[in-house]
Amino acid sequence: MQNGEKQFIHGIFLSELEDWLVRAGEKKFRAKQIWQWLYHHEAQDWDEMKNIPKSLREQLADAFVFRALEKVEVQESNTGTRKILSRLIDGELIEEVLIPAPDRRTVCVSSQVGCMFGCAFCASGQLGVKRNLKAGEIVGEALAAQREYGDRITNLVFMGIGEPFDNYDEVMRAVRILNDPDGFCLGARRITISTCGVVPGIQRLEEEGLQVELSVSLHAPSNHVRDALMPVNVSWSLDELMETCRQYTKNTKRIITFEYTMIRDVNDTDEHCRELIGLLSTFPCRVNLIPLSEIEEYEGKTSRRETVESFIRQLERAGINTTVRWSKGVDVNAACGQLRSKSLGKSLRDS
Ligand code: SAH
Repeated sequence: MQNGEKQFIHGIFLSELEDWLVRAGEKKFRAKQIWQWLYHHEAQDWDEMKNIPKSLREQLADAFVFRALEKVEVQESNTGTRKILSRLIDGELIEEVLIPAPDRRTVCVSSQVGCMFGCAFCASGQLGVKRNLKAGEIVGEALAAQREYGDRITNLVFMGIGEPFDNYDEVMRAVRILNDPDGFCLGARRITISTCGVVPGIQRLEEEGLQVELSVSLHAPSNHVRDALMPVNVSWSLDELMETCRQYTKNTKRIITFEYTMIRDVNDTDEHCRELIGLLSTFPCRVNLIPLSEIEEYEGKTSRRETVESFIRQLERAGINTTVRWSKGVDVNAACGQLRSKSLGKSLRDS
């Protein structure tokens, strides 16, 4: 416990809960019972934990925060995508997105309130970063998604608001709880972390021995173009980023997906495509093209469909496996880069 602040119950490991119970003079096996309630029954409150003695439930309630998020609003797009706006206990607001498909129920979660990286075309970073999310809040997002779907989620992507590697420890803690067979029990390969190119984060992930998927937001085939779009390129240049990705692939044998937001005449010419192929042809990888979701703060336009199709053909011809993510949820501002953390300044405690 830090600074006398209560921890979120959904943010602590099973072993930590066991230790806490033992310190409180309780039996260790209670931890698994509590986890069953949290992740199997998806309990909403301590009082649902009928096989836990009332006195222990009261002690737990004194020590831990149960509800990290309060649902404020759900907006449904005409594509079936749903955006959940949630209030955190300090009043900050975050968004997450549910993306259903015939064979999967995906949730796109946020890792921070705001973002400090300020990519030119992304709404999430326009106001900078307010704070990191705690692991319990991230796990809370996954549980909220599940409640909204009325079913288990099958995939979770860190592609909402924030830069996961700028909040490395709490994101990894959440990943381990989500992945724990005794916990949320979501396969590591169904969890994707997306980074704007924070090189030390990629290097640390390489050491974790986790089977999670890694996506890297590339968006440009040269330093010249990338500098103008993504300030992160000043800290870690394209050469450094690509070398780190090459090492990551070699050492983990895991294939990275490069995301490439397509912006008309900015990064989508034939010359850009040739440069991109040159950059990516030295090691195995995938490309996910994302036609820009236009936002009011950025004057760039989305690429024409023919241009996107031409990129796919050229990349595929070069042997690079390529997919396109056609925007979903634009009508409710739930598409890539359209999420923002709003601040109403009212806290869950006040309400
Ligand atoms: N910070 C992380 C994850 C968040 S964004 C990252 O940068 O990877 C998830 C993806 O959406 C990133 O690839 C991001 O660059 C992209 N994106 C952001 N704004 C967008 C927009 N307006 N249109 C299309 N894609 C966008």
